[in-house]
Amino acid sequence: MQRHLLLVGGGHAHVEVLRHFAAKPLPGWRLTLLTREAHSPYSGMLPGVIAGLYREEQALIDIQALAARAGAEAVIDRATGIDLAARRVHRAGGEARPFDLLSIDTGATPDTAGVPGAARHALPLKPIDALLPRLRALLEAAPARLGVVGAGAAGVEVALALRARLPSASVTLVAGVAGVLPGFPDKARARATEALAARRIAIQQGEDVAEVVAEGLVFPRAAPLALDAVLWATGAAAPAWLAETGLERDRAGFLRVDACLRAIGQDRIFACGDCAGFDPQPLPKAGVVAVRQGPVLARNLRAAAEGHAPRPYRPQSDWLVLLSLGDRRAIGTRNGVVVSGRAAWWLKDRIDRRFMARYQGA
Ligand SMILES: Cc1cc2nc3c(=O)[nH]c(=O)nc-3n(C[C@H](O)[C@H](O)[C@H](O)COP(=O)(O)OP(=O)(O)OC[C@H]3O[C@@H](n4cnc5c(N)ncnc54)[C@H](O)[C@@H]3O)c2cc1C
Repeated sequence: MQRHLLLVGGGHAHVEVLRHFAAKPLPGWRLTLLTREAHSPYSGMLPGVIAGLYREEQALIDIQALAARAGAEAVIDRATGIDLAARRVHRAGGEARPFDLLSIDTGATPDTAGVPGAARHALPLKPIDALLPRLRALLEAAPARLGVVGAGAAGVEVALALRARLPSASVTLVAGVAGVLPGFPDKARARATEALAARRIAIQQGEDVAEVVAEGLVFPRAAPLALDAVLWATGAAAPAWLAETGLERDRAGFLRVDACLRAIGQDRIFACGDCAGFDPQPLPKAGVVAVRQGPVLARNLRAAAEGHAPRPYRPQSDWLVLLSLGDRRAIGTRNGVVVSGRAAWWLKDRIDRRFMARYQGA
């Protein structure tokens, strides 16, 4: 009898799993991908899409075509919970899907908790599969005063991309208490601050947003900031459906996984990317992590299917980060070395196009 491998979510790791099984099928197993959208965005190119440097389709992976190449059935629907005892994943629009082996890569949601009005008035950058349609409407409306709340890598890149796309708008990056690019080397933070100033992006920092209202942002002490549109680029929160999985979760609500990316206490269920909390050490919620987990996850799913021992995922201690400045320039940083300019953009563009070619090809 055929057994069933179910992949939930078409995130950055699962596209690699599909590619892996397309190259080397898993005999005796049926493969199903249950994911919310027919196209999965590649986060590395999203700021380039916003800036107008790429067309939308250049940053989208056709997940149905990729699944077809892997011999997988693609079900476009939203997972809503898991029945662990019956080994079934519930979904919004139809019958639950059975599994013998399950992997979850469904990303994160915006962290709007604790800031009144944020969920109602701000446009969140996450989940990223919903970002492009929402942004399309925003860019068409061409608001005169834009604010981006959160100055991590995504917030900085999106502020710069908006500047490139809407040259006459005023853009304010609200960096809060953490400042610009928290956790990055000082040199990178300084270079990014210079790049933002040179592109007429105002930086407001020192205080976190107290409330988002229809007219803009309210702070505990500083004067309110009048804005026509607010983008929300603060950290990641756990999607509500993870609470319906019956799986162990960390304090923030993400699925706890061991070094081999297995859900804690389970040997037939794996999770990775933003939706997972890696037990051995904290990891950033970044696409690069999910991308690097992809090959390990693929190997471990095959091992679990064939009854072999899984191998651990070993996170790198540092990796190359390339931030688009919106105008075919970028800042690159690794191991404390920081470079910026056109060569950094050339490298980023090349890496991103190569990544996409792996999943868009015939
Ligand atoms: C503008 C922007 C730029 C960024 N740039 C970078 C960057 O340059 N480098 C970097 O490392 N990180 C970047 N990030 C962060 C990056 O986007 C995330 O860390 C990354 O997408 C996480 O990948 P993932 O595989 O966990 O999930 P995702 O890429 O979010 O994919 C989740 C998938 O699951 C599907 N899904 C979600 N919920 C369900 C459900 N209930 N049922 C079924 N399917 C579901 C979605 O449709 C999607 O296919 C950026 C983020 C933003 C917002």
